[in-house]
Amino acid sequence: MEFTDALLQWYDEHKRTLPWRGAGDAYAILVSEIMLQQTRAAAVIPYYSRFMAELPTAEVLAACPEERLLKLWEGLGYYSRARNLKKCAEVVVKEHGGRFPRTAAELVKLPGIGPYTAGAVASIAFWEREPAVDGNVLRVMARLTEDGADVTEQKVRDRWTEYLRDRMGARPGDLNQAFMDLGSLVCLPKSPLCEQCPLAGGCGALAHGTQGAYPNRGEKKAKRQERLTVFVVRSGDSFLIRRRPGKGLLSGLYELPNAAGRLSQEEIGAALTALGVRPLGAWEIVERQHVFTHVIWHMQVVRLETERAQTPGYLWYSGSEPMPEAFLKCL
Ligand code: SF4
Repeated sequence: MEFTDALLQWYDEHKRTLPWRGAGDAYAILVSEIMLQQTRAAAVIPYYSRFMAELPTAEVLAACPEERLLKLWEGLGYYSRARNLKKCAEVVVKEHGGRFPRTAAELVKLPGIGPYTAGAVASIAFWEREPAVDGNVLRVMARLTEDGADVTEQKVRDRWTEYLRDRMGARPGDLNQAFMDLGSLVCLPKSPLCEQCPLAGGCGALAHGTQGAYPNRGEKKAKRQERLTVFVVRSGDSFLIRRRPGKGLLSGLYELPNAAGRLSQEEIGAALTALGVRPLGAWEIVERQHVFTHVIWHMQVVRLETERAQTPGYLWYSGSEPMPEAFLKCL
């Protein structure tokens, strides 16, 4: 039996029930795939449900104000993906009459859609025989064949894409989803559950006990470390915020007042005076950390109560401003 047949058989029995599955709706699949690029399926479900209840079609998303879109995306991170999703919806509405192109070759021309997402949408919604090669597929294939090539290299991805394109068979969307489920449920990155795996009989890594050696992810670049002091200036149940600049990390979102580096007690006092904030008592200091793709923030968080007053350039949080996770965790 071909390994793809064994995988499909397993999928028929073990596939996950997920809200974006079954309808073959290209828009729904696209939204879910973009969200799944950053978060596990179980965590995505509430975000996805909330998003689709308010923005159920490409037309509605295209017309959604950006700030509302970012609020719906709050907590998922990678806000440029939300913006690209909206740009994509705008192009689909303007240039394709609201209907998604049916092939990966056309889908990949849309904003924010890479080869993986194009393959997933084309195969699941339109049954195109196109692979969707992501980290799950690369991990499974590297272990199955004990292939030590560096999976972060494009040429290695291309090679596996070619290999799988010839083996997509009659159920391409299911085969791609079977890889996703096998990678998420069984062939786990750290501790694969080989005893439950439908591919165990033909797996080189299992035969030689080398699962931990695959995939080869090359040399990882160390993330940049940044220190900053963040102020949680509360008045009742609100706190002081301001809009971040339109460009760069977390652009266009809101932030808590902050300063580069770890400020001393004296510097904290001076920064509060510059903000026009008079603490009602002693401030509390806690430590928080947030990991982005290329940088880690080490945050000294200063929490205090004050009376509500106007600070030029700042406003009081009303609940509707999109706040990045890095600052939400300081509250
Ligand atoms: S047998 Fe183990 S290592 Fe091989 S594909 Fe299955 S889960 Fe992964």
